[in-house]
Amino acid sequence: MRIIIVGGGIGGLALAAGLRRHQFEVSVFDRDHDIAETAGYHITLDGRAQAALRELVAPEIFERLLGSASALRLRPADALWDRHGRLLGYGPNLSDSPSVDIDRITLRTILADAAAADLRLGRAVTDIGRTADGKPTAAFADGSVQECDLLVGADGTHSVVARHLAGGPTNEPAGIVGFSGRTAAEDLGVSERQRLGPRSGMAIGPRGAALYIGYLDPVGNAVLDAPARREAITTGPTYIWGAMFPESAAIESMRGTRGAALRSALLTGFRRRGWSERSLEVLTRADPDSIAAFRFNAASTRSQDLAPWPAGPVTALGDAVHATPPTAGMGAGAAIRDAASLVTHLLEVAAGTTALTVAVSGFEADMRVRGSEILTQAMKTVRWIRATDTPLGAALTATTTPLLAATNRLRRRS
Ligand SMILES: Cc1cc2nc3c(=O)[nH]c(=O)nc-3n(C[C@H](O)[C@H](O)[C@H](O)COP(=O)(O)OP(=O)(O)OC[C@H]3O[C@@H](n4cnc5c(N)ncnc54)[C@H](O)[C@@H]3O)c2cc1C
Repeated sequence: MRIIIVGGGIGGLALAAGLRRHQFEVSVFDRDHDIAETAGYHITLDGRAQAALRELVAPEIFERLLGSASALRLRPADALWDRHGRLLGYGPNLSDSPSVDIDRITLRTILADAAAADLRLGRAVTDIGRTADGKPTAAFADGSVQECDLLVGADGTHSVVARHLAGGPTNEPAGIVGFSGRTAAEDLGVSERQRLGPRSGMAIGPRGAALYIGYLDPVGNAVLDAPARREAITTGPTYIWGAMFPESAAIESMRGTRGAALRSALLTGFRRRGWSERSLEVLTRADPDSIAAFRFNAASTRSQDLAPWPAGPVTALGDAVHATPPTAGMGAGAAIRDAASLVTHLLEVAAGTTALTVAVSGFEADMRVRGSEILTQAMKTVRWIRATDTPLGAALTATTTPLLAATNRLRRRS
């Protein structure tokens, strides 16, 4: 069986690695020319995503991934701050958490090694079709066409494949625009480093502005004590942050800006919403070249709306089907679990116990449940942030956060 995967992002590479490991004939095509041409933020992989990866890649690759990751269990509980940097409370204890954080560039690079010669870069797919005898075809930007027995769209939020299958887009803008960036802990002043500490957290304010601050330290919080296996691009304690604003013409215009100009536009956006300088130091000291914009897109939270096409020799996975805002930190993990599920179903086809359409149908049924679960979680935070952008929500946020901060101060003193 010849399989074509369109998109060598997280899900497509995980699938290619798993199929290659089981001797399927597979090619994965990505439009990027360089595998490191990917956003610089970090990815949280929960226990289920790690279990799926363990099935998909060789033990040596899995060790390289863990050797480059940072363990959540070594971090104190996440914090919630207000727009003045005052502590509002802590999230659950993380000491039992199996989750790990890994640089997205590192994850993609190691998965690309697992896909090896089956990965072809600089190959953009422009259209999907069928041969006269019903085999799927992929048409490329260079005019060439390739046919296969199964075609899988792992081409992300604006998927050509899923749009072809669904007859239109499979997701829509969720009303929030995000900007991510990196700030080395050592670039912060002493008091700000102490305030943030070696933890992640979220700061919220009225009028839909929020700032996620993720702490990544693949050296100090290494999952494995195996420095020889470490390939993380993050080499010292780093805050990887995500600024969020409601979509508007002003925010949209920032998406075309880069570097120091973008950093200063972000700071202006927060200051206009009453954020104090202390709470913005992590942005002020950010590496300007690390800052990138991304719009939150979301598919439906209802499982029956996901992959709304009859099962056949063309399917899709990951963000192409269940595009999920990063607010739950689960999109990549779900794409990896989709890949593991598809490999399991295809092994039945290879063993001759199941027909291809039945296997794809079983895979898509599992994926609908998985996609609905992560979208439901991610959209809770999106709705919460958007609610602070209503007159009532803004007033409530402005009045309740100082009360929460004062209560928290008293609790810590007593
Ligand atoms: C700031 C941020 C933080 C995040 N944090 C987390 C997190 O902590 N945990 C988590 O699990 N998820 C996280 N996510 C979500 C995660 O990045 C995505 O859900 C995940 O990458 C989806 O994987 P995918 O393979 O479906 O798509 P992608 O990884 O987006 O890959 C799609 C690939 O397809 C290629 N492509 C697209 N069109 C074509 C075409 N026509 N021809 C050829 N190639 C094409 C693209 O170049 C790309 O490489 C985050 C996202 C963002 C923006």
